[in-house]
Amino acid sequence: MLDIQSIREDFPILSHTVYGKPLIYFDNAATTQKPRCVVEKIESGYYNVNANIHRGVHFLSLEATEAHEEARRTVQQFLNARSANEIIFTRGTTESINLVASSFTDACMSAGDEVIVSVMEHHSNIVPWQIQAARKGITLKVIPMNARGELELDAYRALFSERTKLVAVTQVSNVLGTINPITEIVEEAHRRGVPVLVDGAQAVPHMRVDVQELDAEFYVFSGHKVYGPTGIGVLYGKEEWLDRLPPYQGGGEMIASVSFEKTTFGELPFKFEAGTPDYIGSTALAEALRYVSRLGMDEIAAYEGELLRYATERLGAIEGMRIFGQAAEKGAVLSFLVGHIHHYDMGMLLDRLGIAVRTGHHCAQPLMQAMGVEGTVRASFSFYNTKEEIDTFAEAVERVRKMF
Ligand code: PMP
Repeated sequence: MLDIQSIREDFPILSHTVYGKPLIYFDNAATTQKPRCVVEKIESGYYNVNANIHRGVHFLSLEATEAHEEARRTVQQFLNARSANEIIFTRGTTESINLVASSFTDACMSAGDEVIVSVMEHHSNIVPWQIQAARKGITLKVIPMNARGELELDAYRALFSERTKLVAVTQVSNVLGTINPITEIVEEAHRRGVPVLVDGAQAVPHMRVDVQELDAEFYVFSGHKVYGPTGIGVLYGKEEWLDRLPPYQGGGEMIASVSFEKTTFGELPFKFEAGTPDYIGSTALAEALRYVSRLGMDEIAAYEGELLRYATERLGAIEGMRIFGQAAEKGAVLSFLVGHIHHYDMGMLLDRLGIAVRTGHHCAQPLMQAMGVEGTVRASFSFYNTKEEIDTFAEAVERVRKMF
């Protein structure tokens, strides 16, 4: 069992007040708050081990290099990847997907080839493919969902053709909370010899992820959503696939040798890490992964599941409540609208009561179109939230409803 009160003490921001009210932070799907150990890791990194990595012969540079590579091994263990060479540090989910979209399309696709995505993708798993579509003439096919917000697997199977070169889907929807049957999705693709990219941005913070068990070729996530710093994220790729792909960006660090006649690229993982990497961010991300591992990913999932059940029950009792996303397997995200109250008005009024939620299209406009709404209000929970906060939240939503 998690000791929520002592966990909350690790997050100084949670004891803040806004407009004189205790802060209730329910915008965790956008970004999570940082525990003291992560912030201290950043501070001590700059104070004690700051030097540019990989190129230095001096003490500090060697120490900083070791810390960055140790962070890579921590991510490897966290995801249970086979090798640290399969862990590429990027700026986040968005950059990781752009990297694969660009390099995979260059190496493996030609005009007329197809990528399968789902209707519930974040823009960051749609737009990079559209950019490649414009460059290379590839096309996107879209897995639809049912009324509960679950992907239609029969329709998915029917999307494959001999031109299908990749499946790129999210593990957990940032809007609906749907936990997709990702193992089945991967198996279906593999049965047809098609590789898979999984967007793990909303999965990694909330559940145990084992990339060998999952068997997807690529898996991506952002540090800032898993209690780590902004500006750092991860691309996991099976070594044989990363080896096959050309570099995404050119520059220092990623080369073996350079002349004006010919440049040869470095080995993995450096081939994909051009320029000075965020070696402070990587070590702070590793600290965040150690923090959630200490709490236990299964314990986190169980507690957040409990919060979701409670919030669904409390909000479900409010007159005019429409909850978007009723999947049987669901993460701790609650998207809703009440009567005809505009999502923006609801968000603004909740804010005045100290409650931080997100409103709008949540970077998933095609999903909004599929649901026939312009936007929703989204509350997303973390292990540091409590049932008491949900009580206050439900009372606040009811108060706003009455105002209208
Ligand atoms: N995919 C999903 C499912 C997300 O929820 C997000 C962030 N909202 C992203 C991708 C993009 O992550 P980032 O902005 O950290 O690159």
